[in-house]
Formats: sequence, C-alpha cells, structure tokens
Amino acid sequence: MPDYDTDNIFAKILRGEIPAIKVYEDDDTFCFMDIMPRADGHCLVIPKTPCRNLLDASDAQLAACLSAAKRIAHAAKTALNADGITFQQFSEAAGGQEVFHLHFHILPRHEGVPLRAPGQMGDMDHIKQIAEKISAAL
Ligand code: 5GP
Repeated sequence: MPDYDTDNIFAKILRGEIPAIKVYEDDDTFCFMDIMPRADGHCLVIPKTPCRNLLDASDAQLAACLSAAKRIAHAAKTALNADGITFQQFSEAAGGQEVFHLHFHILPRHEGVPLRAPGQMGDMDHIKQIAEKISAAL
C-alpha cells in the first residue's frame, strides 16, 4: 500500500489550507460537509491524525471516528427528519476511494429517495444551512 500523502485534500482541510463547512470537531476527529452530496446532509468524519483508510488505521483512530460518527448520525437523523442512515467507507482505489485520508461517509436517508449520482457539485448555501441544522442538533 502506498505511503500517506500529506498533500491530500483532507489533510489540507485539517491544516486550514482549503475551506470546509464544519459540522463537528473534537480532539481526535473532524466532521465536514461533502461538497458533492449524494443526499442532503451528506458529511464526512475523519481522524485528525494521518492514515490512508481502514487498512492502515489504528484501533484508536477507528474508535474515535466511529464514536463521533454515531453521534453525528443521530443528530443528522433528527435535524433532517431522516428515516435512516447509510454509512460508507472505501479503502484504496480498487475499493472506490478517491481521497486518501481515512473518511467515513454519513448519508441521511428518506424512505424511497435514492442516492444522487456521485460527482455533482452541491449548492454551497444549501449545504451550509443543512450543516447548521446538524450542528444545532448535536
Ligand atoms: P471517497 O474517497 O470515499 O470515494 O470519497 C471522497 C469524497 O470526498 C467524495 O464524496 C467527494 O465528493 C468528497 N470531496 C472531494 N473533494 C472534496 C473537497 O474538496 N471538499 C469536500 N468537503 N469534499 C470533497
């Protein structure tokens, strides 16, 4: 497996070099909105320390991310009146990973509403409003 690349997009977000719409953070994790949301409220939870994905993550990194993800999933479900949550993690390119800093997708779901196609830029004002609702529910 390749080494961790310190110039990946999420490492730049953690360093504040590129902007992100924050939902939540604690000592070990950071959660922000996906800019190409496949559902309203689509956000990503990442560890603040480096690792590529599930395959090289420490148990502590995984535990911190899952604990934060559970809290955020509950808040998103409440804030958006969702019926369920889809939780995703892709490891390595063959597994569907595009950004090589461990991240977990949280996708609030409504009964009968399919996920949108990937790769479509969202409306930033709308995404910001949703982030505020999730943060307020936390
Ligand atoms: P994966 O690596 O699991 O396939 O997905 C990477 C995710 O990061 C995608 O859902 C994509 O929309 C999102 N993404 C890519 N670039 C950026 C970015 O610059 N900012 C944010 N907030 N999300 C991004």
